[in-house]
Amino acid sequence: MTGAGTSSTDMEDISRFFRDHDIEEYAVVSASSLHAPVGRRPGDFIPSAQTMILFGAEMDERLFSGTNDEISLKVRAFLNKIRRVEDDLCSALQREGFEASPVRSVILQGGTIKGMLSLAHCAADAGLGVIGDNRLLISPRFGSRIGLGAVVTIKKMEETLRPESSIEGCNHCNKCIRACPEHALAQGTLDIFSCRNVTGSVPGFMRPVVFRFIRFGERFPFSRQILNFLASRKVNACADCLVSCPRFHGDDSDRADQRGGRRTVG
Ligand code: SF4
Ligand code: SF4
Repeated sequence: MTGAGTSSTDMEDISRFFRDHDIEEYAVVSASSLHAPVGRRPGDFIPSAQTMILFGAEMDERLFSGTNDEISLKVRAFLNKIRRVEDDLCSALQREGFEASPVRSVILQGGTIKGMLSLAHCAADAGLGVIGDNRLLISPRFGSRIGLGAVVTIKKMEETLRPESSIEGCNHCNKCIRACPEHALAQGTLDIFSCRNVTGSVPGFMRPVVFRFIRFGERFPFSRQILNFLASRKVNACADCLVSCPRFHGDDSDRADQRGGRRTVG
């Protein structure tokens, strides 16, 4: 990317960047326009953050089919693809002299684990979709088969358009809630201490200590580092609340008119 301060060049560059990386959905938004809660704003991530660039990669419908080992391999490859795009985008911005960082870390807040920034909520704010009762983004193009990545930068950039949402979003059918084998989901809330992706990541004998750390460790020295180390060992033990969603298996006919176009500049 070149041409700091020349926004049309920025937009062409960012469009080319995502096209080259085979990413069809993205949004560029001003950091101050996001409705993030205190402590989880782009400015809490990078002081003087100006812009957040979000993107979504389409998940293969068979991502969660196969044996546990096969699923883990496929999910890891998918997440690595997102990380590569984030890293390449950061490198491009840094080459221009702008601080930039991928949004990956998690924090302890209110006795639970949260993303440093909620990518789903930021993406919804940025016009990339709506949040379903399973707390995941439902996008016009990919339904709930979308994996999100994001970069925060001090570079000021022109925003992409935020289209009025006319998509078939969450229909509150409760299929995701009923599908959860641990009853961890209620409408819009998740009990992380029951979710298999958390319990499956911590050996049984360590759960009392780790869960106590999650509940009360917010102010411990190095709590963020410890938490992010634990998060890096997270396993993908379950995706039932995702694959049970009718928007995970969206048929192409209702999305056909939304394919083939990138978000235009504002
Ligand atoms: S990932 Fe599985 S265990 Fe966790 S909330 Fe979803 S359905 Fe429940
Ligand atoms: S399964 Fe139903 S309630 Fe859950 S997110 Fe999908 S559409 Fe919404």
